[in-house]
Amino acid sequence: MTAAFAFDNSYARELEGFYVPWKPAAVAAPRLLFLNRALAEELGLDPDSLAGARGADLFAGNALPEGAQPIAQAYAGHQFGGFSPQLGDGRALLLGEVIDRRGLRRDVAFKGSGRTPFARNGDGKAAVGPMLREVLVGEAMHALGIPTTRALAVAATGEPVHRERTLPGAVLTRIAASHLRVGTFEYFAARGEHERVRKLAGYALARHDPGLAGDPVPALALLRAVAARQAALVVRWMNAGFIHGVMNTDNMAISGETIDYGPCAFMEAFDPAAVFSSIDHHGRYAWANQPPIAQWNLARLAEALLPAIDPDPDRAAALAMEVLDDFPARYHRHLLAGRREKLGIGAGDDAADEALAAGWLDLLHRQRVDFTLGWRRLADAAAGDEAPLRALFAEREAPSAWLDRWRERCAEDGRDGPARAQAMRGASPFVIPRNHRVEEALAAASDAGDLAPFERLLDALRRPFDEAPELAPYGEPAPPAVTACYQTFCGT
Ligand code: AMP
Ligand code: MG
Repeated sequence: MTAAFAFDNSYARELEGFYVPWKPAAVAAPRLLFLNRALAEELGLDPDSLAGARGADLFAGNALPEGAQPIAQAYAGHQFGGFSPQLGDGRALLLGEVIDRRGLRRDVAFKGSGRTPFARNGDGKAAVGPMLREVLVGEAMHALGIPTTRALAVAATGEPVHRERTLPGAVLTRIAASHLRVGTFEYFAARGEHERVRKLAGYALARHDPGLAGDPVPALALLRAVAARQAALVVRWMNAGFIHGVMNTDNMAISGETIDYGPCAFMEAFDPAAVFSSIDHHGRYAWANQPPIAQWNLARLAEALLPAIDPDPDRAAALAMEVLDDFPARYHRHLLAGRREKLGIGAGDDAADEALAAGWLDLLHRQRVDFTLGWRRLADAAAGDEAPLRALFAEREAPSAWLDRWRERCAEDGRDGPARAQAMRGASPFVIPRNHRVEEALAAASDAGDLAPFERLLDALRRPFDEAPELAPYGEPAPPAVTACYQTFCGT
């Protein structure tokens, strides 16, 4: 392990014209609030060398690490359905890429490091609370096994940020498989720069799907690969009760990682229409809409790629449509596999198992049962104890008929109760980032400079499948009145 980032900056080197070289703004009083030691080690870095004053200067943007080539990446995006031809890194910078210990190329990027030429009316800054939210939710997703960008560090700037209120400022250092977005392709396609779209597709394929690099139609291979990753990713969100909140095409990563934890939340009482974002007035990005929105976003990617797929527009469209039309079936295959794990059943009759899962969700919905605890207590029922499950229902007899069906289905499956329960507990977490716990931790950090609640919550989120007694406070839903009023804001 070393103190130096071993940068190898392929984006800056190979994609000139796709970005603007830019420098982070110097800040007044850097202070390190969070360092992800395990992630630093993954990147081959010595965490001790990143702590203290060096880490504060480095992660606030005051002292660039050797080999960094900071650039603001260009991208466009469909936001709530409408096209913005120029978004780009308004307050973010890609410092460069490092090859991690497993040989994977990872982006190292700042968020909140000052205005760039893409800043439009923004101030280029970020506040402590939202950046620590990225830490909490990203680490929770990672611990749940859901592909995600992750926070390496958060440094306070010692400068104020003006939002609805004046807040303390911070810079996040984010690690990502890449920051290529659907919107990156849209940016060049919208300008008619099809040669650049083709080049970007080649770059993306070499980076994320090296096995497909020799494909005769690289742009089509890329579309297929991205569709496969998004189908798998959105299923993971759905089965965890996660609502991204702002699935604009600039927030959909080509890598298949979850990116941009702004107005996101985990749902509590199960409701397919659940949405928490204060700006999502029509529920475009509600829980149940996430699969069709992913497909809609993929259609925007396909459009951008069309000229690179085939010079004959009809043929290009037909090839792209084949991929898009296959998305629902692909998604449903993943979904059923995930639901079977959570139900504790193996392969069987697809239609019957889908109906069994649908019956369960319908029951949770009608009885407003907490999504996470509902699944978790079903595992207890598999182990022979139904009381904790029934206690979640307003009417304790409500799940009886469904439980009979489920038990019959389980009987077809070889495992005994304890083995089934154990497997189910590995598929349905106990600890998720409960909205009230996240808010409590962020408020203490942002308003009082007290990081203790944040650190305790982070520790709990790193063991989501554990149910040790000390984790009990993190497994409880918020009081319903709190959830009813809960909104997350885009003013990040
Ligand atoms: P987001 O909603 O965070 O995905 O960002 C959408 C777009 O707005 C991106 O181009 C961001 O770079 C830009 N943006 C968001 N907040 C700011 C800010 N405070 N200053 C400059 N640009 C911003
Ligand atoms: Mg974004």
